[in-house]
Amino acid sequence: MKQEGRLEMKTDVLIAGAGPVGLTMAMELKRYGLSVRIIDKDSGRTDKSKAIVLWARTLELLDRVGPETTERFINAGLE
Ligand SMILES: Cc1cc2nc3c(=O)[nH]c(=O)nc-3n(C[C@H](O)[C@H](O)[C@H](O)COP(=O)(O)OP(=O)(O)OC[C@H]3O[C@@H](n4cnc5c(N)ncnc54)[C@H](O)[C@@H]3O)c2cc1C
Repeated sequence: MKQEGRLEMKTDVLIAGAGPVGLTMAMELKRYGLSVRIIDKDSGRTDKSKAIVLWARTLELLDRVGPETTERFINAGLE
């Protein structure tokens, strides 16, 4: 129900922070059919590398997203 003076929220979950934790959360929620909106206090991505290495468990989680997701990450890292 829409109340006067309030904005109606059309997404199921609002995620604050577009770092790896926020993006992984979004990915998992989408897998369960929920809609998400991600917001971040920074307007662009950082120019510092914070993930030169992707650890095995991260690759395992990416593998759940869809076929060949992990392979695409590995190949991109090798280019
Ligand atoms: C120099 C460096 C090198 C690294 N190298 C590696 C590596 O090779 N491999 C690896 O696995 N890990 C690496 N790490 C660690 C990895 O970057 C962190 O573990 C990871 O970024 C943590 O993810 P996070 O989502 O918890 O936090 P963050 O990546 O810090 O993301 C949090 C996000 O939330 C946003 N935010 C914060 N407060 C608010 C707010 N109030 N409202 C809205 N948005 C907000 C921030 O702007 C940010 O974008 C490295 C870290 C550093 C510093």
